[in-house]
Amino acid sequence: MEKEVLHQIVLSGIYFLQEESLLEELLEFQENINRKIDSLFKKENFACEKGCFFCCIGWEVKGIIPEVLLFIRELNALEEKKRVKIYEKLQEYKDIPNKENIPCPFLESGLCVAYSGRPFVCRTYSSYDKALCEKKETFQFPDIIGKALDIVKEEVSLVESPFNTLFETKIPLTQISFDKTNKYFYLNLGETAYIYPLKNKTNIQAGLYSQKYLR
Ligand code: SF4
Repeated sequence: MEKEVLHQIVLSGIYFLQEESLLEELLEFQENINRKIDSLFKKENFACEKGCFFCCIGWEVKGIIPEVLLFIRELNALEEKKRVKIYEKLQEYKDIPNKENIPCPFLESGLCVAYSGRPFVCRTYSSYDKALCEKKETFQFPDIIGKALDIVKEEVSLVESPFNTLFETKIPLTQISFDKTNKYFYLNLGETAYIYPLKNKTNIQAGLYSQKYLR
């Protein structure tokens, strides 16, 4: 990660520690983008349906930081036993060198465990022909994806520095951390803030280096 990007991420973490409502605002902002994308895609007659998961196999999903936080919030809403199981699966997944035919670690019984918080790439991956997905044939992505990207660009253009960097930085979902003490997933924001997105209220804890900046 570039030094300037890391600096902006660290700065965002400091702001969140000082003013927690900023973090809630950020999550609401991303949720609003997701809603807009969903309503756009609802109008299309795709072959995609519940239980079809050909597109959840063989690649490592990435999301921008606000998307990853929403994804974690869905994970943390699951019961503790399930969270532990997902964490173990995630650890095993990370150790697999070639993930070409390996299902995403967040897939369970053909369903995404954090479906409503899935990032843009999963939210918009759509096909008019299931057979092409099954055969892993390359196909032209529907034009509607371009429209979804325009929505994101327009919304994100309103975000000011340093928070805009969070919307421009993609990280793999495998970078999600797990706290073995309280058994919740969290995101380590540049070792400055540890963010535990929860359904009722997101918990944010000062990271290792926060004192250095908060003085
Ligand atoms: S995050 Fe969810 S929707 Fe995306 S590939 Fe993994 S299981 Fe599928």
